[in-house]
Amino acid sequence: MTGTEAVSTIFVPYGQGRGRGLDVTELGVHGVELDRLVALGLPIVPGLTVPVSHAASLARPEVAQAAIDLLAQVAGRRFGDPAHPVLIRLLASTPAGAGVPADLPGLGITDASAPALDEIVGISQAVYDVFATAIRYVGEHGAGIPGDDFADAEYDVTSHAERARKFLELSAAAGAPYPDDPAGQLAAAAQATLRRWSSPRARRQRRGQGLPEDLRLALHVQAIRGGPPDRCGHGVAESRDPATGAFAPTGTFRRSIRRGTADSRPGEPLENLPGGQDLLAAALRTLELHIGAVAQVEFEIRDAELALLAAHKVERPAPRSAIRLAVDLAEAGIIDDVTAVGSITAADIETLLHPQLQLAGGESEFARGLPAAAGAAVGRIALSSERAVEWSEKGDPVILVAEETSPGDLPGMLAAKAIVTVRGGLAAHAAVVARGLGRPAVCGATALKLNRAAGTVTSAGQSLAEGDLISIDGSSGIIYAGAVHVVPPRPGGDLDALLRRADAVRRLGVRTNADNGRDAALAIQYGAEGVGLCRTEHQFLGERLPLVRRYLLATEAAEEAAALVELAAAQKEDFLDLLAVTGNRPVTVRLLDAPLHEFLGESAHEVNPMLGLRGVRLALLRTELYPAQARALFSAWVDLAATGVEPQLEVMVPLVALAGELASAVQSIHRAAAEVEASTGVTVPYTVGTMVETPRAALIAGQLAGIAQFMSFGTNDLTQLTYGFSRDDVEAQLLTAYVERKLLPVSPFASLDPDGVGELLKTAVASARRVNPAIKLGICGEHGGDPASIELCERLGLDYVSCSPSRVPGARLAAAHAAVAASAAP
Ligand code: PEP
Ligand code: MG
Repeated sequence: MTGTEAVSTIFVPYGQGRGRGLDVTELGVHGVELDRLVALGLPIVPGLTVPVSHAASLARPEVAQAAIDLLAQVAGRRFGDPAHPVLIRLLASTPAGAGVPADLPGLGITDASAPALDEIVGISQAVYDVFATAIRYVGEHGAGIPGDDFADAEYDVTSHAERARKFLELSAAAGAPYPDDPAGQLAAAAQATLRRWSSPRARRQRRGQGLPEDLRLALHVQAIRGGPPDRCGHGVAESRDPATGAFAPTGTFRRSIRRGTADSRPGEPLENLPGGQDLLAAALRTLELHIGAVAQVEFEIRDAELALLAAHKVERPAPRSAIRLAVDLAEAGIIDDVTAVGSITAADIETLLHPQLQLAGGESEFARGLPAAAGAAVGRIALSSERAVEWSEKGDPVILVAEETSPGDLPGMLAAKAIVTVRGGLAAHAAVVARGLGRPAVCGATALKLNRAAGTVTSAGQSLAEGDLISIDGSSGIIYAGAVHVVPPRPGGDLDALLRRADAVRRLGVRTNADNGRDAALAIQYGAEGVGLCRTEHQFLGERLPLVRRYLLATEAAEEAAALVELAAAQKEDFLDLLAVTGNRPVTVRLLDAPLHEFLGESAHEVNPMLGLRGVRLALLRTELYPAQARALFSAWVDLAATGVEPQLEVMVPLVALAGELASAVQSIHRAAAEVEASTGVTVPYTVGTMVETPRAALIAGQLAGIAQFMSFGTNDLTQLTYGFSRDDVEAQLLTAYVERKLLPVSPFASLDPDGVGELLKTAVASARRVNPAIKLGICGEHGGDPASIELCERLGLDYVSCSPSRVPGARLAAAHAAVAASAAP
């Protein structure tokens, strides 16, 4: 190639790439991005791409001159006209869109043109600033002048003009004078960029980032307009306000030209934009509709003229923005429900439903544990349940910090804003109850040493006193010393609208684990279709504890009978409270499953209480227990039915391992129904079912399905018993180490183990359906709220999942994702 004309054929003005049959491999992501903006009719900065296969030629001054000539033609501007200052910006992009070197905004300035340009642009010698940056870049990366020499040269300068002069002198003295003409500068800058890109260090860095070492660059040359600060500026804006999610250009701009060094001036709000925001808003709207994502643009503005320098989707938009955008696009018919729902994650939803810590940097981390219940809170350390109650009654926010919790701690847990335990895992008492109560919790923070007598908590040498403030993040498991700002939850109408679309996509039902009217009401507000697990033993926590203790410890028949009457009366009240809230929805009531140690503490005398006299086993020895509970439930139903409310009762038997256990429990339930019918004249409709939470129950599910009308997988116990991992003891230490060593991808108490526990579920589903095709199958272990586990439940063909109230919205979304994934699976 000789003349300018021949050379210019290698350049691709923005907007012409696709027409010339070029794609991202030649144009780089930036070239493609700008092509798209032109196709959308959006105003862009004048510019051109030197495609990948020709990029090296831009280092030749005659090619650089041809590029500048073409740029002047495209821009309709002459370079070097002081009345209309135009600077040259060189940038680069790769076909992979990653690892791109910094861009150079200040080419085309010469010693001669600098004073006049600076006069026009004004603002703290911005022209000299970008001039100096370009000189250094070219000297350092093109000519190999050490960076330290530049650092020394600018050591005591007092102005950008002086800095530029010193850099010019340094370059000249090093035998590599900075070119005094725009084409020479552009060529030298291109060479510097390419050299830097192919240096061993850069290649190593790319290898470290998992990018191809020989990834190539496309170069881009833009004409940047400068002008007086009252009429010119540049900035970055995105299409949505992250606080509300509403469409509104959000960002800042700076007056005058883009700076070479980090610009320390605070950005100004877009309301001050010279010429107003209308053009920017229109560009963002067009772009958003086109890419179907929250859009971000870099722009410059001169007078009322807007030009986009770059535009792309925001990779991780604020959840509120993502949700509102999805709903807006779906309502406008631009995307369908599947796409709208697919653009949001369960984690996005979680951040809107729970308070979040707003970290400003510099917070003091005190300890870490398991992220046991989402949300965040700040409060004073209370080392006992009693202290938590006492201080919260005085109006002080408290965080209960305990070795672990038991049913007797319920008042303290209720009084506390959050719960921290030293021991226990994701399925231990503290975690399960915290999630039920909607309190954030960090469990298994094993580094904590509590000294209740001295009133101190220490962790890794740092000591805090009872009463000191801490902040906890139940989603990350981090505990901070001191108070961190908490942002309150912000569920809103847009979230409802999105979840209604998820409901239209999902197949799985979503129920809640709720033990009382308050929890059930919250879950129903969140969209739960019924209660999948009411743990009746939880109704005997706190001040009710003596009642159940009296019953469990009774040695005489008369004493036991008297205790049972009281227990049943209290239970009926609880059922009335729950059923009044659930209305006509299905409600699964699980009969008592009290691991004795949780209720009796030391006096339980069992070596392995979780494997001891629990669930149906206790009921087989205390034969009046389940009938008494069932009578309480049925008579509550009769009372409610008189008011026109008819919940669909499902009575569930826990910890079954033998068909005979279930048969016997079912018989006693039927006996209770007959007794209620005899005394009230009302036939109560109900079904009976079983938990499948022992491996044996899963293996004999066919036998159980001949007796049960429904089955619910209790995957907390099933996981514990399948692995032989104590749900209370091993998580914090053992499972964390297992995950770190990659023996396990994740704790099986957090996410269902597809290979082992999942296999048991699969066997159980198949044999249960073979015997009883109409059997209803669900899951009520903590996994019922975990997105990956929900996907497995979809694949297994369960009918519903049940989870704690605060996880219901995420479960609705995850069930929709699971349905989409299942329909896409081969
Ligand atoms: C289970 O084991 O999964 C279950 C739901 O029961 P609990 O957590 O009450 O033992
Ligand atoms: Mg269980």
